[in-house]
Amino acid sequence: MKVEVIRDDGFWTEFILRDSNPAFANAWRRAMKSHVPVMAVDYVDIYMNSSYLYDEILAHRIGLIPLKTNLEKFNLQNQCVCGGEGCPSCQVSLRLNVEGPRVVYSGDFVSDDPETVPVFDNIPVIELFEGQQLMLEAVARLGFGREHAKFQPVSVCTYRVLARVRINESCSSCRKCVQVCPRNVFSVDEDRVRVIDEFSCTLCKDCLKVCEENAIELTETDDFLFTVESIGQMEVREVARRALDAIKSKAQEMVSLMEEL
Ligand SMILES: [Zn+2]
Repeated sequence: MKVEVIRDDGFWTEFILRDSNPAFANAWRRAMKSHVPVMAVDYVDIYMNSSYLYDEILAHRIGLIPLKTNLEKFNLQNQCVCGGEGCPSCQVSLRLNVEGPRVVYSGDFVSDDPETVPVFDNIPVIELFEGQQLMLEAVARLGFGREHAKFQPVSVCTYRVLARVRINESCSSCRKCVQVCPRNVFSVDEDRVRVIDEFSCTLCKDCLKVCEENAIELTETDDFLFTVESIGQMEVREVARRALDAIKSKAQEMVSLMEEL
């Protein structure tokens, strides 16, 4: 297996996983979505809320604000020395004390840990009017995407199988495939139909339906094109690497369970 990066700006990445299989590609995709922990607010103490929003709706909104995550610094709460009660090694408090009239943004939260802050400062949380006040403490912890979407490190994580497209000698150059292909895989060159962009083929098979000579050979390869977008808590590279670690440790756990049988 091999990984070939096509595009990577840290938070939006496209790469090809070569010589693999659908089971592994899908395991990796799922692990990136649900087995890499990130920080999110999971508990809110509301001391004062005279805004027009109920406490529950406000707490839900605050939970969805993505927070920068340093996984070296924090423990999962159930694996922490505090036994899950909550301590500076497994949770961070973010405080908010604001008065209207004004719009409250994610950047208004004051975090106990200078590294654990909202990814974006300009996410609107609520608009306070004259005389309205908000005073609260939000407690963030590490969690997994399988618990709640707020703990997901990626917003986009998809793959598609790359195709191998060939045209054999029975082609009469009728050009129907050129017209029907939505991804412009084919083109006409010196009166012959040729494959010009195999990479864009999505295996929709429209070309096979219109080709009367059965001249097109369309096969799935063992290569998978991944498109992954991070929400911002950490870079896609780190999410991908930690997802692989998660798969590895799960496989090792499986092996030891099998040995016990
Ligand atoms: Zn702890």
